Parts: sequence; C-alpha cells; structure tokens
Amino acid sequence: MDTNNIKNFVVVGGGTSGWMTAAALGRVIGTENCTVTLIESDEIGTVGVGEATIPPIVEFNKLLGINADEMLRETQGTFKLGIEFINWGRIGDAYMHPFGVFGRTIMNVSFWHYWKKAYDLGLSPGLDAYSLNWAASKKNKFLRSANVANSPLAKIPHAYHFDATLYAQFLRKFSTNLGVNRIEGRVEHVKQNPDSGFITGVTLQGGKLIEGDFFFDCTGFRGLMIEQTLKTGYEDWSCYLPCNSAQALPTEAITPKHPYTKSIAHSDGWQWRIPLQHRTGNGIVYSTDFTSDENAHKTLMANLPSAAIGDPNQLRFLTGKRKQAWNKNCLAIGLASGFMEPLESTSIHLVQSAIMRFFSLLPRKTEFKTEMDRFNSSVDEEFRSVRDFLILHYKATKRDDSELWNYCRNMPVPDSLQDKLELYKSGSWLERNKQELFGVDSWLAVLDGQHVKARNYSPLVDRITDEKLKSILSDTRIVLEQCTTAMPKHEDFIKEHCQTQIPASSN
Ligand SMILES: Cc1cc2nc3c(=O)[nH]c(=O)nc-3n(C[C@H](O)[C@H](O)[C@H](O)COP(=O)(O)OP(=O)(O)OC[C@H]3O[C@@H](n4cnc5c(N)ncnc54)[C@H](O)[C@@H]3O)c2cc1C
Repeated sequence: MDTNNIKNFVVVGGGTSGWMTAAALGRVIGTENCTVTLIESDEIGTVGVGEATIPPIVEFNKLLGINADEMLRETQGTFKLGIEFINWGRIGDAYMHPFGVFGRTIMNVSFWHYWKKAYDLGLSPGLDAYSLNWAASKKNKFLRSANVANSPLAKIPHAYHFDATLYAQFLRKFSTNLGVNRIEGRVEHVKQNPDSGFITGVTLQGGKLIEGDFFFDCTGFRGLMIEQTLKTGYEDWSCYLPCNSAQALPTEAITPKHPYTKSIAHSDGWQWRIPLQHRTGNGIVYSTDFTSDENAHKTLMANLPSAAIGDPNQLRFLTGKRKQAWNKNCLAIGLASGFMEPLESTSIHLVQSAIMRFFSLLPRKTEFKTEMDRFNSSVDEEFRSVRDFLILHYKATKRDDSELWNYCRNMPVPDSLQDKLELYKSGSWLERNKQELFGVDSWLAVLDGQHVKARNYSPLVDRITDEKLKSILSDTRIVLEQCTTAMPKHEDFIKEHCQTQIPASSN
C-alpha cells in the first residue's frame, strides 16, 4: 500500500454525523487498511434532534450494508413519503412536498406544463392529484416497491423517521463491529504542527493524546477543530432564514402514524410533527428577533398532538455555513459545517453528501489542495441550493399576521433564487443544476402549494388537442388511484416488516 495513503482517521464527535462518518470510513476504506478512531463525550452529549430524513438515506444505508428493516426496528422508525406544509401559503392552506415526481414526462416535456394548461382551462384538478406519494400519504398507506413493471409502484421514493439517539446508538454498534475504535472522553486541546498549522492530535481530559493523519470535526455547533482551532469563519445567512431557536418536545405515540412529516406554520414560527413507533417528535422553530421563548413555548404546548413526555429541549443556532468545510487536514461534517433549519430535513443528508464527496475525492496524506478546493466549492454550491429552496417557503408566504411573516414576505432574496423565480413565472422550464439537491418537482410542489403562479406553459404542449390532454391526465389519475388502492396501510407495513419488539428505553 502507498505510504502516502492516510492511515489514521480521527473522528471527534459521536452524534449522527460522527457515527455516520465512522461507519462509512469503516465500510468503504476498511479497518484493515486504516485505523478509524471516534472520540465522543457522554458529558457533553449530542444535539438529540434530527429525526426526519430524505430519500438518499436509503442508498446510504445500502452502501454501508445496513438492513433497512433492522435499522428501523432498532430506532423505532417509520416511513416518510414527503412533508405536509400546513398554513404556510395562507392560514388554512395545506399542501405537500411529496418525494418523487408529478405525473410523467410526455414527449420530452415535463408533466407540469400539461397540467398547467389543463388546470387553467378548468380541465383538471390540482397538482396533488398527480403524485403517488401525496395520494398514498392522504390514505396513510405505504409500500416500498412492488414487482410490477412500468407501474409507479415499481419503486416508491421514500425516506425514514427515526429516533435520533437510537440511530446514533445503532451506528455506533455497527461501526464498532466493523473495527472502529471508540474512545469516551472530552477533547481539551487540539495539537497543531507549528509550521503548517495542520492538526497532529487531540488531547483528552486526563492528558491522553490521540494522534492522526486526518481529522473529522463532528463536534456539532461548537466546531471544536474547524472553528475554535483553525478559525475558519462562518457565513451568516440569518437575513434570509431568520429563525435562530427551537424547542423540541417528544409526546406520546399517535395513531394513525402518518407516513410523512408535518410542518405547521404559526404566527410565531413553525412546528414539526414526526410520528415514530414509540412516540411523536415535536418541536417549534422560531426567531427571537420576532417572538420570545415564552410565546414559542405556549404555541408549542397549545398544539401538541398527544401528552408531553418531559420538558422541552431549548436549542439555539445561527443559519449559515462554515467558509470552508475542509480546512488543512480537518473536514467539518454535520452541524460543525453549518446549519440550515430543519424545514426540509436536509441536515442528515448534507452529512451523507459530504461523506460521499470525500470518498470521491479521497486525498493522500499530503498535497491535497486540488481535492480540498473542489470539495469546498461543491459543498458551497450544494448548501446555497438548499438555502434558496428553504427561503422560498418563507418568501412565498401570503401571511401577514405577525412580524415574522411580514419580514419574510418583504425580505430581499439571493439573486440565484430571484432568477429561478423569474424563470418559473415566465413559464420556462426549471432546470436542476449539478449540485442541486432538490429537483424540479420539489420546486413545483412548493411554488404551486404557496400560490406562486406561472404566467405560461411550454408551447410544445399545444401539439396535442384539449381532448387528448384531458384524457392523458384522467388516465394518470386512474393509475394512481389503482396504485394507492393496492398499497397496505403504513402501520400494517411496519407490523409486517420492521416493528420494534422491545420497548425503547430512550424517549
Ligand atoms: C431543532 C433541530 C431540528 C433538526 N431536525 C432535523 C431533521 O429533522 N432532519 C435532519 O436531517 N436534521 C435535523 N437536524 C440536524 C441534525 O440534528 C444534525 O444534523 C445531526 O444530529 C448531526 O449532528 P452532529 O452529529 O453534527 O452534532 P451533535 O449531535 O451535536 O454531536 C456532537 C458530538 O460531538 C461531541 N463533542 C463535542 N465537543 C466535544 C469535545 N470537546 N470532546 C469530545 N466530544 C465532543 C458530543 O459529545 C457529540 O457526541 C435538526 C437540528 C436542529 C437544531
């Protein structure tokens, strides 16, 4: 083996990001080729939230060789087909951002253009009628896939809800079985090479030194190495995404367990609701610039779906990203690399995406400036694309019942988002850029759901007659109706495949 290969990886932090990183290093590089050491501190603990995911998590688990049902059983998990947004456009509204597509592309033209023409002519119901995930969600149904060729049931885009603490424990067991070394202890000092500034080791409380070639900073918001040691700097995006606080509070399990996350907007902020097998995850996200912790607390308590378990966990954050996620021989992953609020459940995905990008650019021990620059520019693009998508939800509100919504409706947005909005409104085709996480159908779901109207549709749709258009759309609806009729109830699917047997100790 090349002596310039990295031999010693050190991961500091044992939250979701630390254990996802350690598991991936153990699986992809292999502990026969390197040592992977993870240091975590029970005394500091983890952020303890982060329970809703998006579909690429399914592929990440597969890459690691994790059996999805086993993971769901151990984490009290449920399935997720999308996110329902309640009261976002206007009070009383409800729309969904479903995973997957609306209808199907016809003669190379995106389905939306056909729908738009028909809808404006009064020949079609709303966009929701053309999403399998949306239709299934409303019936509380779920299926991963069915062996039916050319059917939307062949592969249903889905993700998971799980208990964040149990997920980290699951990955810890998985990683240590792969040969990852776990060290319990608090890092007190980070040792650097005096000439290069590269990190050479970390010293634990009590004096033990752990040396390494490459370090992952998974220490959460504090960014122990990337910020406190390397002073990398942080780009603040709170002018676009002003929420800076959350209170998380588990409540008792609910029935039915909707196979989607709920995001409910209030005057104060917005609330998440995530049904797990053993309990329900809830929390409110808000800005202290516009409301007090007390008011947010009252709103949360007044809108719980079941009895509270314990007291709320108060969290503070600053929306933005680290100026460089990779600096010298340190790569920040997870909250240490930046945070955008959990509106579209993107953080765990950004962890996964950083890990995969690192493998695709896997550096040698020295001379990796090219890889580092490439990594940082891709992360930058990806974060900005997620940021723009999140801003859209706030900017496109018509609500005027609080200072928060008035600010958001009127705030200037980044040029990249403004360009996208202009393109959509003109009736042109939205395009997905290379590093963009959310595809055209995701953008359409939010734009249409929040009453942002396009002026036009593609002229190519005029190639077919109105009669033909009507019949294509009606056929699509019939197929989706047949598909959802054939799907089992979400709870029955869980019972058959991944029901947790032993009551969980975590809540
Ligand atoms: C309100 C809220 C809701 C969220 N909801 C979602 C969601 O629905 N979906 C989603 O994808 N993401 C969500 N997230 C983000 C998600 O929680 C995180 O991305 C994820 O948990 C990863 O966190 P982390 O591992 O980076 O940090 P943490 O969980 O904070 O872990 C940090 C680790 O570093 C260790 N550590 C810190 N300092 C030291 C030290 N000096 N020595 C040793 N160890 C140390 C700690 O002990 C801990 O193990 C949410 C975040 C917030 C704030």
